[in-house]
Amino acid sequence: MGIEMRIIAATQNKHKIEEIREITGKFNLDVVSRSEAGIPDIEIIEDGNTFEENSEKKAREIMELSGEITIADDSGLMVDALGGAPGVISARFAGEDGNDAKNNEKLLRLLNGVEPENRTARFVSVITMIYPNGKKIVARGECEGHILYKGRGNNGFGYDPLFVPLGFNKTFAELSGEEKNKISHRAKALQKLKMMLEEERI
Ligand code: IMP
Repeated sequence: MGIEMRIIAATQNKHKIEEIREITGKFNLDVVSRSEAGIPDIEIIEDGNTFEENSEKKAREIMELSGEITIADDSGLMVDALGGAPGVISARFAGEDGNDAKNNEKLLRLLNGVEPENRTARFVSVITMIYPNGKKIVARGECEGHILYKGRGNNGFGYDPLFVPLGFNKTFAELSGEEKNKISHRAKALQKLKMMLEEERI
């Protein structure tokens, strides 16, 4: 079933937008980026302690600026041997002026000497949808896997080269976009959101 709806995406991360569009395109959600919607380029401070808090904050701030239904994705990688780190600070793990390469280096450094069976991890995505009337829908998706000793693959972004999803022997960065978007945390969260929207319409 398709849901025809225009939605503003609060994220400025091009990779996330691309994935969200590819996933939601299949169910007719028309996801419009902030720049396409002409929304001023404000910085949103992600100071929450949970994915849920940050996701809601981003969705709410952009809904208030756009006056339209808005979704936000707050996501990250949780590594068991690191007590769930980097978690909500995944994007800033190596510091405010870090980047994907530095984040990946830091992760490998902290996991130095950790045996394969203890390198379990999961990606988490929390998608929050906020309506102009304040209504909120929250959907969480998780993808289990493990962390390699060295990156592999050039697709995707972030920690993708280090993460092998459960049941696969390729990293997220070695899978095609289409393959990743069938099994990822973001895909699972968006599928849940779709089900919730459909239930509302029955
Ligand atoms: P956010 O903008 O605070 O949600 O940051 C999410 C961060 O988590 C990204 O910058 C990446 O470091 C990491 N992350 C989230 N989803 C993915 C993914 O699908 N692949 C790789 N890294 C991801």
